[in-house]
Amino acid sequence: MDKKVVIVSGGSKGLGLAITRRLLDAGFRVHTFSRSPSPDTKMLEKEQSDTGRYYWTALDTTDQEGLDKYVNRIYREEGHITGLINNAGFNLDRLLPMTGPGEIERVISVNLTSPLLLTRLVTRAMIQKGNGSIINISSVIGHRGIKGTSVYSATKAALVGFTRSLARELGPRNIRVNAMLPGYIETEMTAGMSVVKKAQVIRRTPLGRMGCAADIAGVAEFLLSPGSSFITGQTIVVDGGLTC
Ligand code: NAP
Repeated sequence: MDKKVVIVSGGSKGLGLAITRRLLDAGFRVHTFSRSPSPDTKMLEKEQSDTGRYYWTALDTTDQEGLDKYVNRIYREEGHITGLINNAGFNLDRLLPMTGPGEIERVISVNLTSPLLLTRLVTRAMIQKGNGSIINISSVIGHRGIKGTSVYSATKAALVGFTRSLARELGPRNIRVNAMLPGYIETEMTAGMSVVKKAQVIRRTPLGRMGCAADIAGVAEFLLSPGSSFITGQTIVVDGGLTC
């Protein structure tokens, strides 16, 4: 991969932001989107104005037509897309009987349908150039049961199945597909966890702490780099040992 062009969905905060920063430091050209800008996207636009390697766009990942135009524009302007990180997602912490059909559809749409559609668009570009690396951000909750997260869990487990089959499909085209399963990471998503729950997670984690976004960003960079060139179809758990 000479020119390293990556799309990161949901890069305005949390894990997506940390991944974006890490990839910029490593010399990647990073295209990211979210529904709204954040103080960090504005800061990065200023910081990176000289390098011309950072682009943030306002886009809802469930907007199919918007995604289509977005990917086509990047491909036309950059000439290649070497990496994709399907990161945008959210957790609906609710017992299933209390969850409305519309809420279920929304979680599936953001966490599962959109990554599938975005990947479909990006792989068309990758296939033409004969290389690429795709990372699907799943969760340990797709792997272990947690009360109140059944819909979220279903979408995250589905991403793992998607990863495995797609890796078989695209391996012969030199495109790698891996899933990352973060444990509990300090971001806005986990900010609502009670002190008691956080203490419980830390007690059960061999490394004795919650994860930080940088823990995830380092693994993302590795999975995009030549150092991981023989790794595909895998699920990489990054949880401090919580589920070991
Ligand atoms: P976060 O801090 O809430 O950030 C989510 C990002 O996704 C934001 O940039 C958000 O921006 C964007 N986003 C959400 N809905 C979107 C939509 N419909 N269209 C476009 N962008 C959207 O969450 P996070 O903790 O970084 O989580 C990132 C990913 O890691 C998620 O897939 C999550 O399931 C997974 N994960 C997180 C943890 C954890 O402990 N934090 C653990 C396991 C897995 P806007 O709101 O402006 O759109």
